[in-house]
Amino acid sequence: MRFAHPLIIGAGPAGCAAAIALRQLGADCTLIEHHQEVGDPLCGGFLSWRTAEQLGVLGVDLAKLGAHRVNKLRLFAAGLTAELDLPQQAFGLSRHALDTEMRRVALAQGAEILFDSIRGFDKNRAKGRRDNYDAPALFLAAGKHDVPRAGRPRNAKDTTAGLRLRLPSSPERDALLGGVIELHLFKGCYVGIVLQEHGSANVCLAVRKPALTTAGGSPVQLFGQLAEQSPVLAQRLGSDWKGTKIDAIGSVPYGYICHETREDLYRLGDQAAVIPSLAGEGNSIAVASGVAAAEAFVHGVDASAFQRQFAKRAQRPVCLASVMWHTAEHPIGARIALTLARLAPGIIANFADWARIPPSTPLARP
Ligand SMILES: Cc1cc2nc3c(=O)[nH]c(=O)nc-3n(C[C@H](O)[C@H](O)[C@H](O)COP(=O)(O)OP(=O)(O)OC[C@H]3O[C@@H](n4cnc5c(N)ncnc54)[C@H](O)[C@@H]3O)c2cc1C
Repeated sequence: MRFAHPLIIGAGPAGCAAAIALRQLGADCTLIEHHQEVGDPLCGGFLSWRTAEQLGVLGVDLAKLGAHRVNKLRLFAAGLTAELDLPQQAFGLSRHALDTEMRRVALAQGAEILFDSIRGFDKNRAKGRRDNYDAPALFLAAGKHDVPRAGRPRNAKDTTAGLRLRLPSSPERDALLGGVIELHLFKGCYVGIVLQEHGSANVCLAVRKPALTTAGGSPVQLFGQLAEQSPVLAQRLGSDWKGTKIDAIGSVPYGYICHETREDLYRLGDQAAVIPSLAGEGNSIAVASGVAAAEAFVHGVDASAFQRQFAKRAQRPVCLASVMWHTAEHPIGARIALTLARLAPGIIANFADWARIPPSTPLARP
């Protein structure tokens, strides 16, 4: 198939943001998505104020979707607790709800969607399982899933796995977690907990492989061990977590930033930059990169120049979040962070703000 407009591979937050922004800028586009049904990809469920701001410009209203409002950050480590106000209001929302709405808005704005799985690229061509697609620009928004021979470089340091439990609404968890994002810090891992729409709880764990190995490589055993170490975590997990399916993803390349690409291949979302999930800013980067790529394309900026510019924009949040993650995963670092949060909460709140992707300029027709 041949198109005179951009082809976007992947209808997650990055791909849908690009599609909506292209339509807002008056350009046509086609999304190619692997899955016909919108799933609930593994994610911590936290959407920052910057994410909310950018989604609002695209016509996605988190409050109207029933997202849980989050105003406070609560930290736990080695028996210490600290609680502070977030710089601005954030939200808890499942990826199923977010992706469903973003796909709906993209289609309502006039974007087209085709279902196929892209297996590789030639110049201005995406090669699918069902068909090949020729287009003047390719937007690669395949997220966590690398396309063969166009994958992100892997290295031995990518030892982090992500695990997720989705727990049903309960009065106990409502009382403990209402309005708060919690981070429980342990050696080599952290657990993030936030309520989402309808009061369900998203419990997400990012763990270094050695820490998982000490639990016999078993996610269930790891959650069990952490709950034994921390009564407050046990209280939040309750008794209903056992028997709940644990979703998993391996080798997350935290800290990756793409600086170079081909002139026809714009890389978006996790294909552009992977911020440590502790910061809860991955979806924000996805949306920002989608909008920025749409603007670049419409203004005639090729993919290589776009990628260099976006890499600069992503540098500060990704570096800061990497420092926060490395500090938090060491017991002494976690203790220092909690002590600081108790003595000078404003400093931690500022770090939380600086770890956001800098705002973009408003969309405008060229
Ligand atoms: C453990 C963990 C916790 C996280 N927690 C948070 C959090 O709380 N808040 C936050 O903001 N971010 C969080 N993130 C990051 C966030 O999930 C990602 O940054 C975000 O999903 C990136 O969006 P994306 O659109 O780039 O990719 P994805 O969400 O991965 O979407 C990619 C889309 O492309 C499709 N696709 C893939 N390959 C192909 C192909 N070959 N052909 C066609 N279609 C394809 C997929 O089906 C999917 O629909 C977390 C990440 C991890 C690992």
